[in-house]
Amino acid sequence: MSDLCALGDMITFEQAKTMLLNVVKSVDEIDTVPIEQSGGRVIADTVYAPVNVPPYDNSAMDGYAFHFEHMQEHTTPLNVVGTAFAGRPFEGQVKADQCVRIMTGGKIPDGCDTVVMQEQTTQQKQAISISKLGVKGANVRLAGEDIKLGSVIFARGHTITPADIGLLASIGVAHVSVFRPVKVALLATGDELKSPGETLADGEIYESNRFVLTAMLAKLQVEVIDFGVIGDDVDALRTAFRQADAVADVVISSGGVSVGAADYTKQILAELGRIEFWKIAMKPGKPLAFGCLDNSVFFGLPGNPVSAAVTLYQLAIPAIEKMQGKTTRERAKLLAKSVSDLKKSPGRMEFHRGIWSVTEQGEIVVQSTGTQSSGVLTSVAKANCFILLAREQAKVHAEEKVWIEPFDFLLS
Ligand code: AMP
Ligand code: MG
Repeated sequence: MSDLCALGDMITFEQAKTMLLNVVKSVDEIDTVPIEQSGGRVIADTVYAPVNVPPYDNSAMDGYAFHFEHMQEHTTPLNVVGTAFAGRPFEGQVKADQCVRIMTGGKIPDGCDTVVMQEQTTQQKQAISISKLGVKGANVRLAGEDIKLGSVIFARGHTITPADIGLLASIGVAHVSVFRPVKVALLATGDELKSPGETLADGEIYESNRFVLTAMLAKLQVEVIDFGVIGDDVDALRTAFRQADAVADVVISSGGVSVGAADYTKQILAELGRIEFWKIAMKPGKPLAFGCLDNSVFFGLPGNPVSAAVTLYQLAIPAIEKMQGKTTRERAKLLAKSVSDLKKSPGRMEFHRGIWSVTEQGEIVVQSTGTQSSGVLTSVAKANCFILLAREQAKVHAEEKVWIEPFDFLLS
């Protein structure tokens, strides 16, 4: 390893992620919720199919149900003895030389195994002739063809999507067991921070981290408890952290974790819990505090807006998803051609913000959003992906391939 890549007192991004995933545990309490309220929640008890889907053999077409073998041997017309509608089956046994007019979704009557499309028949008064016989079982949807009675529908740890809710409905399940929502307390620190709508005095800025973090966490279906903005004051911070720890599973703060004279977060956390202060070889987002308070785990994110958003997305969210009971999901990565040079020195893994697209020729290309300073939130707002640049990577030249990670639903 070159000197430029020496870690010194830093740990790698991967080490940080592995360590925090090892510490957090899934919540164990379970809620039972109506399926219509279950979107985004995580299955706590494996769901087995209580029925077959479809529940009975039925017709995929409007046509006539008949006994296939008979028609292989005879060419005489079949007598139409009744009609099967979806939801109104034909009762009774159909003989070999008979057939039943059947509608899409209608139950295949006893004695029949095949459906011929109406268009492939010629009708005489109470009989039909089949002009094109086809194969045995044609146009029949078999019971259990989609879902078999007793099969696993969702395993513990699965996150419920809109189609999943439909699947649960289709097997007649009205309620589902999910892990209870993870409770996340959120606070921002800094004497300079004012809320949008207020007037700024000299030296003040508008607070934005809580807004970005809350919006991302809301999409994750966690319960956010907002502790607002706390000034750079030891007593106020201690009180806020204590109260947050009492009500939440996760406490997230932004700011105050570096080495400035007003960075009290570290000092108080060291007093209240078992906290690690990590210098992570990543950019943005070098300083991060992580550890355990009495009842919760704690993430002290850096204050710079891009750093706060990136460390939440890349480090805190995987941990929170584990706490939600989710099975680990890897975010999708693509190989893309960089359309321009990208500045980079070996030493830290970088999460450049980029815009990816597909050319008319089908090539995936990516361009930087421009300045990559950790205070420039527009670099995230304009982006639709991270350009992942490994720690040892030096400058990227235009036309070189780079790995990109398209923003998932939390950032888009
Ligand atoms: P700190 O980590 O507290 O030293 O803050 C680093 C930089 O991020 C400073 O320029 C702060 O003013 C800014 N900053 C800290 N917290 C926020 C916040 N919640 N919203 C916007 N900017 C912030
Ligand atoms: Mg600060």
